[in-house]
Amino acid sequence: MPNRPNRAGPHPAADEASRSLDVVIIGAGFAGLYALYRFRDVLGLDARVYETGDGVGGTWYWNRYPGARCDSESFYYSYSFSEELEQEWEWSSKYPEQPEILAYLNHVADRFDLRRDIQLCTKVLSAAYDESAARWEVTTDRGERISATYVVTAVGCLSAANVPEIPGRDDFRGDWYHTGAWPKQGVDFSGKRVGLIGTGSSGIQATPVIAAQAEHLTVFQRTPNYTVPTRNARLRPEEWAKIKRDYRAIRQKTRETQAGFPYDVLERSAFDVSDEQRREIYEQLWAEGGFKFLWGSFGDLLRDKRANHTAAEFIRSKIREIVKDPGTAEKLCPTDHPYGSKRPPIDTDYYVTFNRPNVSLVDIKRSPIVEITPQGIRTEDATYELDTIVFATGFDAMTGSLLKIDLRGVGGLRLAEKWAAGPRTYLGLQVAGFPNLFTITGPGSPSVLLNMPVAIEQHVDWISDCIEQMRVKGFRTIQPQLDAEDAWVEHVNEVAKQTLFYEAKSWYLGANVPGKPQVFMPYVGGQPLYRQKCEAVATAGYAGFELRA
Ligand SMILES: Cc1cc2nc3c(=O)[nH]c(=O)nc-3n(C[C@H](O)[C@H](O)[C@H](O)COP(=O)(O)OP(=O)(O)OC[C@H]3O[C@@H](n4cnc5c(N)ncnc54)[C@H](O)[C@@H]3O)c2cc1C
Repeated sequence: MPNRPNRAGPHPAADEASRSLDVVIIGAGFAGLYALYRFRDVLGLDARVYETGDGVGGTWYWNRYPGARCDSESFYYSYSFSEELEQEWEWSSKYPEQPEILAYLNHVADRFDLRRDIQLCTKVLSAAYDESAARWEVTTDRGERISATYVVTAVGCLSAANVPEIPGRDDFRGDWYHTGAWPKQGVDFSGKRVGLIGTGSSGIQATPVIAAQAEHLTVFQRTPNYTVPTRNARLRPEEWAKIKRDYRAIRQKTRETQAGFPYDVLERSAFDVSDEQRREIYEQLWAEGGFKFLWGSFGDLLRDKRANHTAAEFIRSKIREIVKDPGTAEKLCPTDHPYGSKRPPIDTDYYVTFNRPNVSLVDIKRSPIVEITPQGIRTEDATYELDTIVFATGFDAMTGSLLKIDLRGVGGLRLAEKWAAGPRTYLGLQVAGFPNLFTITGPGSPSVLLNMPVAIEQHVDWISDCIEQMRVKGFRTIQPQLDAEDAWVEHVNEVAKQTLFYEAKSWYLGANVPGKPQVFMPYVGGQPLYRQKCEAVATAGYAGFELRA
């Protein structure tokens, strides 16, 4: 039976068919939970979260696939807004698995008494702006109509699962699953012939774990990916004691660095050192594991093709060293895009898994998938009989969940229409023509290029300060001026063009979803510059925004 999203349990009865609020928050992941805390408990607003799932946690509620874990280290892949929370919560390891992160987010919901203002099992279907009342009217799939002064989307950059439309998919006699909508009860792969499509972060995390259980695993790979070992380890009590002592400094650092990690991107170029020293640096970072390989090695890896080539070549040499069959090793070696130009995965035993006798790799760039048959997958030159298919095919990133909501601004302007050629925002926070609608980690903000809790907290704080200022100064509405929005979109494109990000067909560009306009969506200018811009705009009385009393 095909997988269905795990919306288990009956809908609790809607509290009211209609209600009036200060703020509607859509989504109960990292962003929605913090937004509720900030708006309700700090600003004193009447705020309520609406969430499709039957639990809180967002990404960590939906992505229950084997091997799912964070790849920012736990002690900074977490909230910084409460010192008490920091001091009382202890992560088991550097890179905990999905259940532990979900438990953390549930703990946050309980600890701050958030649940009473979170309505689960409720999808927001539409939000329309009523200009005469200067309010939003929001509808849900439970027949409710909610009137709100502000709508804040916390719908997630990676929350709209992308299941490819392969002919025959629905006739497959076995089970199929998408990693981003994994069944709560889990999946038993014992004795099964499993096909896994996709070698992005999720596919790379899931492959070794599924291989250890399944009778046979066939990985269907279109684009080989560069991955660096995670080197997960338990956090010992003395390490915890130090982290807890240093938390303020760690958090401060995450707000100052390019990608929101508590370590610097070194300014040095890959060519400031000798070939031997460079190799030694890469060896050390490979042994240490994690994102530091990209962010803590050389400052020009994402700007200079030659510099990037040194890192790419190092990873390829590791693949050839680890994978015993030379043909498989070559298939796993990425050559068509620079390292880091796609979202870089980190892994536990990914490459070595291809030495297992029960694992095979199929190059679907060379021999594309033609159809899914009732028995399995047929490519141009072979047929693979399968019991289970896993789609690790990622998400309609950054705009997918926003555009699934029928959002209509001034004069009935549809967001889908406005964004037909790609998303347009001012600072990734607001869209011209959609007053009082705020988009947490919206396109045009650093979002997915940052350690995301840092990006989320910065956005929620900025929005919350903005609403507070509006109340103090008696403004009812805020929206970007069109020229400020145009200039921002131009700036976002300009800085992206100075990097190697355009060299890959990535989800950052929308290239993974057929028909999606290819526009570079996140802001690559880096966190320090972005924060500076956001602060300058606020200090100048919200420059580039139109405020109305
Ligand atoms: C497998 C995986 C691993 C990741 N690891 C990392 C990591 O290590 N480091 C990092 O920085 N980031 C990571 N990310 C990115 C991750 O998405 C963010 O870190 C963070 O969890 C995003 O939180 P959020 O609240 O913005 O969105 P989400 O967690 O995606 O939550 C959005 C919520 O909105 C709900 N929603 C959407 N539309 C509607 C609607 N119309 N009505 C009602 N509800 C709706 C969804 O159901 C969802 O629960 C990872 C992502 C994935 C998929």
